[in-house]
Amino acid sequence: MQKSIAIIGGGPGGLSAAVRAAELGLRVVLYEKGHIGCGITCAEGFIDTLGILGKPESGVLFKVEKVNFGANKEHLVNVGDDYGIWMIDRDAWQRSLAKKAHDLGVSVKEHYPIDKHRLQEMRDTHNYIIDASGAPSVTSRMYGFISTYLKNATILAQYSVEGDFSFLGKNTIKIVYEPHYVGYYYIFPKGQNIANVGVGKFHLNKKNRALYLNKELNDVLIKEGLDGYRVLKKVQSFTPSASVARLVWRNILLVGDAAALCSPLYGGGIDMACISGRLAAELIASNQISLYPTRLWGIIGKKLTMEKRVRSLWHFFGYPFIRGILRYPGLMRGIIFNKRPIPQILGFGSKRVF
Ligand SMILES: Cc1cc2nc3c(=O)[nH]c(=O)nc-3n(C[C@H](O)[C@H](O)[C@H](O)COP(=O)(O)OP(=O)(O)OC[C@H]3O[C@@H](n4cnc5c(N)ncnc54)[C@H](O)[C@@H]3O)c2cc1C
Repeated sequence: MQKSIAIIGGGPGGLSAAVRAAELGLRVVLYEKGHIGCGITCAEGFIDTLGILGKPESGVLFKVEKVNFGANKEHLVNVGDDYGIWMIDRDAWQRSLAKKAHDLGVSVKEHYPIDKHRLQEMRDTHNYIIDASGAPSVTSRMYGFISTYLKNATILAQYSVEGDFSFLGKNTIKIVYEPHYVGYYYIFPKGQNIANVGVGKFHLNKKNRALYLNKELNDVLIKEGLDGYRVLKKVQSFTPSASVARLVWRNILLVGDAAALCSPLYGGGIDMACISGRLAAELIASNQISLYPTRLWGIIGKKLTMEKRVRSLWHFFGYPFIRGILRYPGLMRGIIFNKRPIPQILGFGSKRVF
């Protein structure tokens, strides 16, 4: 009999899992608590750090050509053709993925929230469940590990701002690592007249935790000359890069933010949600779910360990450490895109992060 999978969540992780599972001939139901694309909190940079995913099939606004890491002066790093960063309209991208899943036979049930009681029942009515409900996940509510997600998290506040962003330069995004706290701010334009502007701080020490994020964000607007611009939307959230001890709970597999797979260095997690979602579907199809943690680790382990180590060194040595790295654009590019020999130089690769 055809295996049945229930997927919780219609974000990047759940949709990627649904498409892959349907392509492999599985019977799939996807439950989304709102409608697909609702309530997205994201800077909308699709950063293919491992070079596995390639250009998104839809929703692309432009390919990023340069990243400006400079606070006071320009510090431009060329992304080039070998590395993939795209600015996307995430709502359009997710809706298009949902349509693809539907066309492949996935039953997409919107406005269908799953709570821990429903999850308990679903464990017996479906062969497998992929929990892609983000952080904290529905599974963590059932098994009581919600607090894990806030360990090592990046706390973010973001404005969607309307104004003229042509000063950034063509197809350029800006990420500035901050001297007075362990974190960063970013300007990710979605075109010439609208941008996601945000501040992220790592949830590491008391001083950092006490930082008043909204004030910091308003200071960024002033510093960047955006204080006259119109703020369309404000959001505050976090990205988890903690160590989720178990990724498989009986017949439930955690993917994406539910598995706390965000970058500890810049908070991004779309790419790892897609990768883990696809992998979970493939291992279900081949009856190998027990291999999920090891296989996933084989793909993303080095990257996550390296980024965690860089963040710890930054925390320990302070801003001069990260400023030193920024002096060498190739090094920064190597860290973000996990290019050899950077992991080896920094001595990473053996310690597990989950
Ligand atoms: C301010 C901010 C900016 C960011 N910018 C970037 C960026 O530029 N690039 C990047 O790569 N990453 C970025 N991230 C991280 C990125 O958004 C996440 O890593 C990514 O969305 C994870 O995808 P996911 O599918 O695992 O979870 P989510 O995107 O959180 O999707 C979970 C889905 O599950 C649904 N859901 C939740 N609970 C239930 C339930 N009980 N029942 C049914 N459905 C449920 C939700 O409605 C949602 O649709 C950012 C995060 C923040 C907070």
